Amino acid sequence: MRTEERAATRPTDPAAPNVIPSRYRQVAVAAVPSLDPDWLVEHFTDREVYFRTRFVVARYDDRVALVEVDRKATDDLFTLTVAARVLAGPDDCAVVVDESVDTGVPSQLAAAAEAFPGVKCVVVEGSYSHVSFILNPAPIRVRLIDVVPPGPAKLLDQVRRVLATAEDLPPVVVVPDLFDSRRLLAEAYDVPPRDVLIPCRGSGMDFPGSTVSFLDERPPVRDWTLLGCERSNQIHHWFYGSTPERVDICPRQWLTSDGQSTLTRCCLLQEGIESERTGTVVPWGASLAEVRAALETIVDRSEVVWTHI
Ligand SMILES: [Zn+2]
Repeated sequence: MRTEERAATRPTDPAAPNVIPSRYRQVAVAAVPSLDPDWLVEHFTDREVYFRTRFVVARYDDRVALVEVDRKATDDLFTLTVAARVLAGPDDCAVVVDESVDTGVPSQLAAAAEAFPGVKCVVVEGSYSHVSFILNPAPIRVRLIDVVPPGPAKLLDQVRRVLATAEDLPPVVVVPDLFDSRRLLAEAYDVPPRDVLIPCRGSGMDFPGSTVSFLDERPPVRDWTLLGCERSNQIHHWFYGSTPERVDICPRQWLTSDGQSTLTRCCLLQEGIESERTGTVVPWGASLAEVRAALETIVDRSEVVWTHI
């Protein structure tokens, strides 16, 4: 099995996007006296390496280069390299040392690389001192639309938690696009409405100049403005038999036609996910499994190319 894997090994295209090792054991670190490309090729050819080693982060002072080696097939623990090539020289590499980064998760590598826009290869020394890299980072950028307050933005938090453990997904970077519900109300009225009704209590829901009521407490009806979604509107009608003035805060309204990699949530979706041209939608109270499924859908629809080797 291992031999077949090795026989199938092809040299990595140094221009391929999102090249990421699938196992940190493939990556060795070596202190060297020079990062000159010719020297590196010669030094790492016909050299003994651990049988899993495919990449070497060559380090000289605080600079590094990324070298790929081809090995002789073996069933032993160590073998000889038969060729070496420099995938990224010292001028094309940046180094991140951050023990909070799990280098086995592509999205975590991509997030670390965000600090170095345009850099070809970002080498990361992360948790457990494991070293890995992302070559030619080109993550899928997912626009995440949500509304706050109430805060913090729950869906954004869920997406980050899912991506933090998504070992099998290509690199995804989330780009938050958060709308402020207080601002939506302020933009709808020249002076704040005297009475505001919001779906439930939540942090950050302060409305100076307005008396605030909470729909889930079923307060006596007033001439208020509902700051809520269509579902709240329906509940209001059930409670009071009337339709109030309303400022809609359902994030679905901000989906646009170019939203292929957009994720948001909707009050009217009960369970599962909906995927359409304008984006992918999860329920207002989505589970982590639904958030994960939505991200998988976005990834499948994207044309991301990644090399997980
Ligand atoms: Zn909605």
